[in-house]
Amino acid sequence: MNNVDIKSLTIEEIEQIIIKLKQPRFRAKQLFNWIHVKKISNYREMKNIPYALIDILMIDYPLIALNEVSKHEDNKDGTVKYLFELKDKQLVETVLMKYKYGYSICISSQVGCKMGCTFCASTIGGLKRQLLPSEMLDQIYVIERKMDIQIHSVVVMGTGEPLDNYDNLIRFIKLLSHEKGRHLSRRNITVSTCGIIDNINRIAIDVPQINLAISLHSPYNDKRKEIMPITIKYPLNNLIQACSYYTKKTGRRITFEYSLINGVNDDIEHGKDLAKLLKGMLCHVNLIPINSVDERDYLAADKGHILRFKEVLDKEKIPTTIRRSLGQNIDAACGQLRNRHLKDQK
Ligand code: SF4
Repeated sequence: MNNVDIKSLTIEEIEQIIIKLKQPRFRAKQLFNWIHVKKISNYREMKNIPYALIDILMIDYPLIALNEVSKHEDNKDGTVKYLFELKDKQLVETVLMKYKYGYSICISSQVGCKMGCTFCASTIGGLKRQLLPSEMLDQIYVIERKMDIQIHSVVVMGTGEPLDNYDNLIRFIKLLSHEKGRHLSRRNITVSTCGIIDNINRIAIDVPQINLAISLHSPYNDKRKEIMPITIKYPLNNLIQACSYYTKKTGRRITFEYSLINGVNDDIEHGKDLAKLLKGMLCHVNLIPINSVDERDYLAADKGHILRFKEVLDKEKIPTTIRRSLGQNIDAACGQLRNRHLKDQK
């Protein structure tokens, strides 16, 4: 028995299977369409595929499907947070947000995370395992199918460090944007990283059309080491150099995410030094009031601090937006819902 996850395969790889099974080549296109356009997770629903072929595929090439465990809606801003169960009973979180331009979805790329950022709930239990391309895709497909919507943009910014699951991430992006599949524009896909420099350099070559976001959170190497231990391996100056290389190589603007934490990184000096660090770079800064996390002591910066911080960056002509902190009533900080669910089960 092969037991190959068919939803993670390219159309050419499915074609190879079909040829091996002595079936006509066009069956590969039909299967790819059922999986990535109609988003079917049950072979029996595939009306134009012969039963005999379905019987083989069901055993040797199973269709991975996520199970919805719970769904929490924030009545104030419409954000919906889903908790999905994977085949091995692990849990992942996905957040659906509604904007004026359409739906945006924030997906997870790993179960847990090993990066150890001190403000983050996802890393508390460490990394459990990598998500397969199919498990990243299904966070989108299940919601689109259930809600009968087409999602406008995808952000890989939920639980996990996507560049720590590089090969699966690239395969996921290629499948999601495939013209015979879901065909989401790569320009509508954003990948957020804490700063794994080697893979920032690779992504600039492998999928240069996507948007890259860097979680920065401090303009100082030592301070950043405290809140984001990845800085020990990849120092801040090297990260900024890699970002400059990325913008030159791709011609794409880079986004810096800066979560403002009360008393930690939200004063005027931080703002001025952040502006110095980013001066001249093709970039945009998103200021985000941090979502508080039960297990951590951090509190969101107050409104006055956030506005003053933005003024400093504006003065230095660094394009800056204050992001709404969505889903505050539904444990929206990444990892919180999963942690709460696991605690409740104990
Ligand atoms: S912020 Fe991202 S990279 Fe850092 S621990 Fe959380 S999930 Fe991992």
